[in-house]
Amino acid sequence: MNITQKLEKLDRFTKEVEKFISSSHVSTDPYEIEATSADLSLLPKYHYKFKEEFRASHVIRPGNTEELSKVMKKCREFSLPVTIRAAATSCFSSSSPTRGGAIIDMRRMNKVHEIDADKKIVRCDAGISWIKLIESLLDYGLAPKCYPTSYKASCLGGFVASAGKSGIGVLKYGGIRDALVSVTLVKPDGSIEEITKDSKGNLTLDNIVESLGIYGAIAEIEMTITTLKTSLGMIGYGFKSFNKAIDFYLTLKNNKVNKPFFLSLSNKKFEKLAHKTLPTRDFFVYAVFFDDPDLTEKALASSKEAALKTDGLSVDEWYLKEKWLDIADTELNLGRLCRNPVFQEYWIADERCQSFYEMYHSKTKKLMYKNAFYIMAGINGGNRIKIFGLSDIKNPREFFGIKANFHELSKFAYGQQDRLYTIGVVNTFYFIKFNPDGLEYTKALKTKLDPENLVNSYRFVQAKMKYWRIQLLFFIAKWLYWVA
Ligand SMILES: Cc1cc2nc3c(=O)[nH]c(=O)nc-3n(C[C@H](O)[C@H](O)[C@H](O)COP(=O)(O)OP(=O)(O)OC[C@H]3O[C@@H](n4cnc5c(N)ncnc54)[C@H](O)[C@@H]3O)c2cc1C
Repeated sequence: MNITQKLEKLDRFTKEVEKFISSSHVSTDPYEIEATSADLSLLPKYHYKFKEEFRASHVIRPGNTEELSKVMKKCREFSLPVTIRAAATSCFSSSSPTRGGAIIDMRRMNKVHEIDADKKIVRCDAGISWIKLIESLLDYGLAPKCYPTSYKASCLGGFVASAGKSGIGVLKYGGIRDALVSVTLVKPDGSIEEITKDSKGNLTLDNIVESLGIYGAIAEIEMTITTLKTSLGMIGYGFKSFNKAIDFYLTLKNNKVNKPFFLSLSNKKFEKLAHKTLPTRDFFVYAVFFDDPDLTEKALASSKEAALKTDGLSVDEWYLKEKWLDIADTELNLGRLCRNPVFQEYWIADERCQSFYEMYHSKTKKLMYKNAFYIMAGINGGNRIKIFGLSDIKNPREFFGIKANFHELSKFAYGQQDRLYTIGVVNTFYFIKFNPDGLEYTKALKTKLDPENLVNSYRFVQAKMKYWRIQLLFFIAKWLYWVA
């Protein structure tokens, strides 16, 4: 197909879609395409130089499940690649286009359809933001069981399709997989399927959670919710060593009676960069309890007792409150102080946090760039460890040097039976290299549902780069970093 034929085809596609979606929600504006193509990871300009062919041709915003289904059908009819996008906060290019085509922005699908206060179940569109859902449930004295700290922007569908395993509420109530009752999925051919806990067809809820949208777009979500609690309390302790800090963190995490509503461990550098002031010791454990007043009181008292045993130094209450008020911005704040924040997220089991930290420390201590780390408690004995390298955008050698260091940590994580938290497009080559069984299964299901591989391509089943090329690239990057 030559360029004229291509443009004619895209023009015909626009006209066809505008028959069922208002033209104001079918955009071919280059600025809008650019704005909906990247994510918060702020990859520098030299990275995008190689990505011209990724650029989408359309941004389409369906308003309901029927419109979404018709768009997906049209895309398949025109063999046009599709990228499903919510708020794009999961980064790693998870919701960025990779083969051109249409970006389907889910955020117009933002309605609450039904709140059943007796059964404690809500049904809503997948493009609704967590903050909007939280506000809607507030009127009924209800609340979601779990949500990410990015709740001010991120959407329900994004949490279901990315990981949904760590964040606010997960220790107390479980991850998003536990809360799901059903999802309405628009498959790559545009057909609509309701998938419930009991579904035994091609697709189950387990396939949909963490699928990065490769099996289609989640249109609606039905999930269990909880009652709003009345008493919020928090504690924070500084520790001289990682050893002591992780001991205390795991004591709180694995306490069966009073699980924290939120729990994190960070190093001093992270606190310094994320907030205006910082605790005095090198490591900081922070826990928030949210329950009925007597239960919150008990939890605070038993945490204080445990902290004394591990030599924790308590942090002023105003600092703890400020941290909670700031929780949605904490990770973003790190980006304010540098021109190019680079990060990687690991999913590390409780019992291997110590060895992972030791490896991180030994690999990072001699490096010159600013770095920081932060652990957020997750479900099933897992933890999301986010490592930041704060580099200068004008210094590509530093950028690639940091990426090379993260690569070594990623290999170490897989070597000790752990994995990365977010795969996205950027980390798919790790999934392919280290998960041969998962790869085979995912590929077979993907081929059945999307034989032309049009929807959210280059996630899980196929990578742009071969592993050996990445190895070589990072070897050179590391060498150049040291020479410099
Ligand atoms: C400040 C900050 C704090 C964060 N805190 C947490 C946290 O506590 N816990 C955590 O797990 N993560 C966290 N994250 C990562 C991210 O915010 C979450 O994964 C979030 O749930 C992503 O939602 P989103 O709406 O931004 O989805 P996006 O990033 O837009 O999408 C994520 C993936 O899901 C797919 N997708 C989106 N919507 C749909 C849909 N309707 N149907 C099918 N596929 C879809 C996309 O194609 C993409 O592959 C944080 C990120 C930031 C920047």
